[in-house]
Amino acid sequence: MTKIPFLRPNLVKKEELLPYLSEIETSRMYSNFGPLNARFEERVLNEYFDTKGAVTTVNNATIGLILALSQVKRSKGKYVLMPSFTFAATPLAAMWCGLEPFFIDINQDDWCMNEKLVGEWLEKLDDQVAAVMPYAAFGTNMNLDFYRKIHESGIPVVIDAAASFGAKEGPDYFGKGFPGCIVYSFHATKSFGVGEGGLVYSANHEIIAAIRQAENFGFSKTRETNLFGINGKISEYTAAIALATLDTFDKKIKTRQQIHTWYVEELSQKNYIDKGWTLQKTCGEIPYQFMPVCCPQGERNDDFIRLLANQNIAARTYFAPSCHHQQLFIGYPHTPLPVTDEISSRIVSLPLWEEMTNQDVCLVVDGMIPS
Ligand SMILES: *Cc1c(COP(=O)(O)O)cnc(C)c1O
Repeated sequence: MTKIPFLRPNLVKKEELLPYLSEIETSRMYSNFGPLNARFEERVLNEYFDTKGAVTTVNNATIGLILALSQVKRSKGKYVLMPSFTFAATPLAAMWCGLEPFFIDINQDDWCMNEKLVGEWLEKLDDQVAAVMPYAAFGTNMNLDFYRKIHESGIPVVIDAAASFGAKEGPDYFGKGFPGCIVYSFHATKSFGVGEGGLVYSANHEIIAAIRQAENFGFSKTRETNLFGINGKISEYTAAIALATLDTFDKKIKTRQQIHTWYVEELSQKNYIDKGWTLQKTCGEIPYQFMPVCCPQGERNDDFIRLLANQNIAARTYFAPSCHHQQLFIGYPHTPLPVTDEISSRIVSLPLWEEMTNQDVCLVVDGMIPS
C-alpha cells in the first residue's frame, strides 16, 4: 500500500455542489454555454482579470491549446516554437493543427523556454514560424513582456499555462491583459480541478469569439458551419463544479502554499540546499500542483524516486523523459537541448496534496536521504 501517494485530488464535496445542481434541474439546460457556464465565465473575468479581455471554457486544456492555435496560427507557417520540457499535450496540439513542434532549450533557473534562443530562432526560421507556445513551468508567474512584444510584432503566442490558474503577482492574476492566448487546465490533478475542463483567456475579444465559435462546431449565428470546428464545450455539470470550486479556491491555494513552505523549510534545515539541491526560481504566489525540486548536478532523479518508492512514497519525474526523447516527437527539429537534458535528469516531483501534514512532508524529505 502507498503510504504517501503523489497526488490526492480533492474536488468540491457534493454538499457544495447541490445548490448548483438544483439550478440545472430548474433550467433544464445541460450544455451549450448554459446559465451556469455563463456565470462561471463572468465570475472568472471579474475576479481574475478585472473584466479586461474575454474568456471561454473548454472541455480540457489540450482542446484549448488546439483551438487557440488553430485560430491564431500564421497560415504560411510550419513550426510551433515550444520547450521540450513540457507535457506531451503541447507538441500534440501543434500536430493536431497540422504543424510541427520545434523544441527550444530552457533556462537553468526557472525551467521556462530560453527567450534569447526563441529570439534567435524566430529570426532564422522567419516565415516558417506559425506560432510560439511557451509553457509556464509548474504554474509559475512567467514574465510575459517578451512574448507580448513577439505577439504584437505579428507572431502569435499561445501560452500553455495548464497549472497557472490562480497564480498571482502583486495584485494581478497570471495572464491578465495578455493579447495572445492563455490556456489553463482544470484537470483533476491541477489545483483548480473539476475533473476535465479548461479555460482560454485573451485580452483580445475577437480571438476568444473565434475560439468559442470553433468549439461549437464552427457554427455561425445562423447555425451554419463556416469555420473548421469541433465540440469543445463543457457541460453544465462541469460548470457547477467550477462555480463551487471558485467559492473555495483561495483556501485551496493557501493550503498548497503552506505545504510548499514546509517543504522549503525541511529542505533547507536538512541541508539539501547546501548539498546542491535546487528549487525553481519563481515569483509571486503560485497554486502549487506538486513540489518540483532538482537533485544535485551529477546525481540522477531515478535513484531518489526508487529510494522513496521503497518507503511507499510515490514521486514522479515531470517532465522526464522530455518531449524530444519520446517516440512520437523524436523526429522533430530542435536546438541543442543541454539544459533540458540536465534538468530532466535531476527533476524530482514530490507529493503535494491538501491534507498533507508537516509530518508527511518530513517523511518525504527524510526519505530521500540514502541510508
Ligand atoms: C495538464 C497539462 C496539460 C493538459 O491539460 P488537460 O486539461 O488534461 O488537457 C497541458 N500542458 C501541460 C503543461 C499540463 O501540465
